[in-house]
Amino acid sequence: MDKKRVLVCGAGGFIGGFLVKRLKDEGYWVRGVDLKYHEFEKSKADDFVIGDLRDQQVCKKISEDVKFDELYQLAADMGGAGFVFTGDNDAAILHNSATINLNMLEQAKETGIKKVFYSSSACIYPEYNQTKPDNPGLPEDCAYPANPDSEYGWEKLFSEHLYLAYNRNYGMEIHIARYHNIFGPLGTWQGGREKAPAALSRKIAQVKDGGEIEIWGDGEQTRSFLYIDACIEGTWRLMHSGFTGPVNIGSDEKVSINGLAKMISDIAGKKITIKHIEGPLGVRGRNSDNKLIKEKLGWAPDYSLKQGLKKTYPWIAEQVQQN
Ligand code: NAD
Repeated sequence: MDKKRVLVCGAGGFIGGFLVKRLKDEGYWVRGVDLKYHEFEKSKADDFVIGDLRDQQVCKKISEDVKFDELYQLAADMGGAGFVFTGDNDAAILHNSATINLNMLEQAKETGIKKVFYSSSACIYPEYNQTKPDNPGLPEDCAYPANPDSEYGWEKLFSEHLYLAYNRNYGMEIHIARYHNIFGPLGTWQGGREKAPAALSRKIAQVKDGGEIEIWGDGEQTRSFLYIDACIEGTWRLMHSGFTGPVNIGSDEKVSINGLAKMISDIAGKKITIKHIEGPLGVRGRNSDNKLIKEKLGWAPDYSLKQGLKKTYPWIAEQVQQN
């Protein structure tokens, strides 16, 4: 078999599912691994193993029978604000995700997988740089002095260091992306782990024209959201560049949460009123700075938020109807 072989950890998740499809389209032989199968579609992976990557024996088993050329490590215990910012899941997030990264990276070294992708997050950026809604963007080097506002962010930052150290000490080729709020169809849209675009789409799909939806906080907090196709394109380009990173893969189109709700309700063709309630919020303003990605990859995401929402809302509205 002369096809390149690639291992995708977290292949049953949202981004992992799209990544597997892209790798198949590019002609790779793909093994996916996850705690669960993909919720909304059958995986396109050639082989799919259900396994818990916190268990070193599982990590050994999935990587020793095939000589893999590349590893994409996306498995993590993760979710939106309702999962990450309540504090209730802090120990699990730190323990589970760090264990997965420690296990899989060591296993990749032991079995000689030379090229590794790691999905970090915009959540590593310090809280003190994100206190105002009008955030001009977070350049990669503003990560230090470190002060992420969640344990999820601290784990990602620790793991960035882990991957970079394996690069320095063991000569492994490492590529690290800091994803900023990725969204699209086939993503979690209910249950507490969903992110803002999916949660708001669900709420808007559930109300009648003229109805009311609830938003956490005053809705003036800002974020940027990147459509999944651009995330996969950026991931592919980074993995085929000479650049280790970490580098932002995000949109620099900033929007307030109230503005996001308005965009989605326009797409839904519904007039809605917003009731602001108490809820977990995260930082006040966050946006991607794309100078470094442009410089290193000669490319930056340019997928508009509206364009992405036009593809995402109908899918969520259909899920709401079917449930
Ligand atoms: P996701 O939750 O849909 O996918 C993560 C997958 O990891 C899930 O399918 C989950 O079952 C799996 N997993 C968790 N624990 C596991 C374990 N012990 N063993 C095996 N599998 C396990 O999330 P996603 O949105 O697809 O994100 C993928 C990666 O990108 C994650 O590392 C996440 O932290 C990172 N990221 C995502 C975003 C985003 O906006 N979606 C932003 C920044 C970073």
